[in-house]
Amino acid sequence: MEVLLGKLVEQNELDKEEIVYFLQHLTPDLKVRLFELAEQIRKKHYDESVYIRGLIEFSNFCKQDCLYCGLRRSNATAERYRLTEEEILECAAEGYRLGYRSFVLQSGEDFHFTEARLIRLVTSMKIRYPDAAITLSIGERSEAFYRALFDAGTDRYLLRHEAASRSLYQSLHPGMSYDNRVNCLRILKDIGYQVGAGFMVGLPGQTYEHLAEDLLFLKELHPEMIGIGPFIPHSATPLKDAQGGTVEDTLVMIAMARLLVPDALMPATTAMGTLDRLGREKALAAGSNVIMPILSPLKVREKYALYENKICTGDEASHCRNCIEMRVAAAGYRIELSRGDHCSFNRAPEKS
Ligand code: SAH
Repeated sequence: MEVLLGKLVEQNELDKEEIVYFLQHLTPDLKVRLFELAEQIRKKHYDESVYIRGLIEFSNFCKQDCLYCGLRRSNATAERYRLTEEEILECAAEGYRLGYRSFVLQSGEDFHFTEARLIRLVTSMKIRYPDAAITLSIGERSEAFYRALFDAGTDRYLLRHEAASRSLYQSLHPGMSYDNRVNCLRILKDIGYQVGAGFMVGLPGQTYEHLAEDLLFLKELHPEMIGIGPFIPHSATPLKDAQGGTVEDTLVMIAMARLLVPDALMPATTAMGTLDRLGREKALAAGSNVIMPILSPLKVREKYALYENKICTGDEASHCRNCIEMRVAAAGYRIELSRGDHCSFNRAPEKS
């Protein structure tokens, strides 16, 4: 194990067999060391900064049917909503007043939001807030769509790969294609977006081999952002009786991802905070360095239920900002409100 830990830290590399062996033989003591090493390497690249992204969940309509997700189209109990362009801009305005300079627009796969509508939205945001970064997280679209939205000024795109094992991916995503998901990620990278990939921990049927494949997929893709969170079963989905992931297992994956992809921006996810009151702080201490406070209007927060009992559904944005600021400071880190680009990112100058 010492040899493997050394190789992880010095070369940021392990092969699949080594990762599986490492996960099988991880003792509580070694885990503590793993988290410490992950935190050290994160500090080397991003010091004590914790980057803030204001999250705007603008629609929970979804044409996909992912088995784990509460927004899946077959969930007839979901109360669907869409924010208007004005409402979305109001959320961004509130975030901007709070000092946020990075916004994530997330939704189910809702094609009501056409290319033209989204270009208008991104353009309006960029005119009002030229110093803010805009991230889209709206699922799979065409290459032409991704290009058009990049040209409109979108900076980043989050699209978790969800599961790097083709068979596991296919068992969870009826009607979707593993190849298309991976292809979307590659196209987004080629276009010049800062790209986020990632996966859930504790999916039914997920083995150490699958998790090793997820980590190696990330290593190979080298995304700018990596989102890893526990799977939390939703009662109105086919996976309602599944066990779900644990905070502890997710922390191991966060730390491993940090060591394998040292310069990634990695959120301490809301799902971690949902399972454990201190879950996000624990993630920060295991290599995460991003927090995404929710900016969506209070009236829709509970409706954006990927899973249930999500935290922060009753807090005003300003309260969220204070709460997060206190938590981050108490954990020994520093809130960083700037755009928070990847450490090696340089966007080509806009054509004028
Ligand atoms: N439609 C967009 C956004 C999906 S929601 C897209 O396809 O990218 C964002 C993430 O929430 C998903 O990528 C998934 O990894 C996670 N998620 C969905 N259901 C979840 C659940 N039940 N528990 C934990 N995370 C979940």
